[in-house]
Formats: sequence, structure tokens, C-alpha cells
Amino acid sequence: MNKIIILNIKFRFGDVEDVIHPVILNDDENMVLIDCGYTGFLPAVEQAMEENNLSCGDLTHVLITHHDHDHVGSLSELKQKYPQIQVIASKKETPYISGQFKSLRLEQAEAMQPNLPEEQKEFGLAFCNILKNVQSIPVDIEVQNGDFFNWCGGCTIIETPGHTPGHISVYVQQKEIMVAGDAAVLENGELVIANPLFTLDINEAEASLQKIMTYGAKEIICYHGGIFIP
Ligand SMILES: [Zn+2]
Repeated sequence: MNKIIILNIKFRFGDVEDVIHPVILNDDENMVLIDCGYTGFLPAVEQAMEENNLSCGDLTHVLITHHDHDHVGSLSELKQKYPQIQVIASKKETPYISGQFKSLRLEQAEAMQPNLPEEQKEFGLAFCNILKNVQSIPVDIEVQNGDFFNWCGGCTIIETPGHTPGHISVYVQQKEIMVAGDAAVLENGELVIANPLFTLDINEAEASLQKIMTYGAKEIICYHGGIFIP
């Protein structure tokens, strides 16, 4: 039994409704959650799992595509409640997840803060505080490009830097499905790089999007936007 389940976690920040799509890879031995939502989202993750007749208690791994707060935010809550879960991230993202290095997103936001127009300063400050509140947590398994796991008949780790330096995607070979994290975003039916404002290296991000396309996947799953069928 090899199953890929795309979670729909809907939420509202102020007036804005949004949805994120963590992904579950489930076979007879492993249940892998790819990305886990914002800080405080553990109940939402649990509920989304239950809606699919799954339980966080059965998770074996959580793979974090990159250290942004909407992907890693609930990780420490998740690991605390379900300590059996092994945390996987790329070698390059690990120091930011484990707290050894300061979040690059926080550095970026703090650098932007003095230059923000007056009416955006409050929002900017609130954003910095949200980033500061992300709890750091040790990574159990560090991966790099080409690393292989036997989940769902075989999965390959693909380095897709740009949005952040150590961003990874996961290619599920048998199903020909690419789980792209934020290396690809589905916007108005088009596959694009994530918001350039929050992309730390645009040229790298564009190259990573091209790299993803070379796999000829039948489906590309975007954390923001959902399923893209090329
Ligand atoms: Zn994101």
C-alpha cells in the first residue's frame, strides 16, 4: 500500500483566508509528513490527518523542505507530543532549524524593517516577532541531493535552492509525483517561483523550478497552491 495524501489546512490571518498543503507519504512501514505548518498549528495538522483517517501517532518522519515558519512552525509541538517522529532536513537548512544559526528570513525581515513605509512598519514588526517565536529543534537525519529513501517504493531528495539556500523537494518515483515545497508555487494555474520578495536567490530559484520540470512528473504538489498537472 503506497499512498500519497495531500492535506488541506485552511486558516485565516486577519481578513485573509489561506490554505497550505502538507503532504503525507504512507506505506506499510513509514508515514512521512512533509512540512507541518505555522507555530500553533499542531491541532490543525492533527485534524487534517484525522479527516484522512490518519493519526500523528503513526508518523515515523517529518521532512522539512526549508526553515520558513509556515513549514517548520509547529515542528517542536509535534515532536514534543509525538517523540517517535524522526526529523529530516537538508544539511544546509539544519543549522537554521536547530537554532545554531539565526533564521535567514528573520535576518531579511529585520534588514527590511527600517526601510518599510511608515504604514507597514507595524506589520513588519509583527512579522519579525512571529519569526522569533519559532522554536528551534534538533534535526535527526540530515540529507542532501540524491539521497534515497524507500518510502512509497522509492523517493529521492532533490536540492532545489533559491527560496532558501538548502530547500529540498522530494520525488516519489513510482507515482511520478514531485513534492515541491516552496520551490514551485501554483498561482492562477501557472507554476512559478515563490514570491520574489521572499526568495533569497532568484536566479537559483528559477534554476530549481527548471530542475523540477526536468523530472517529467505527472503531478507537482505545491505547498502553496496544491496540485499542478504539467
Ligand atoms: Zn511557504
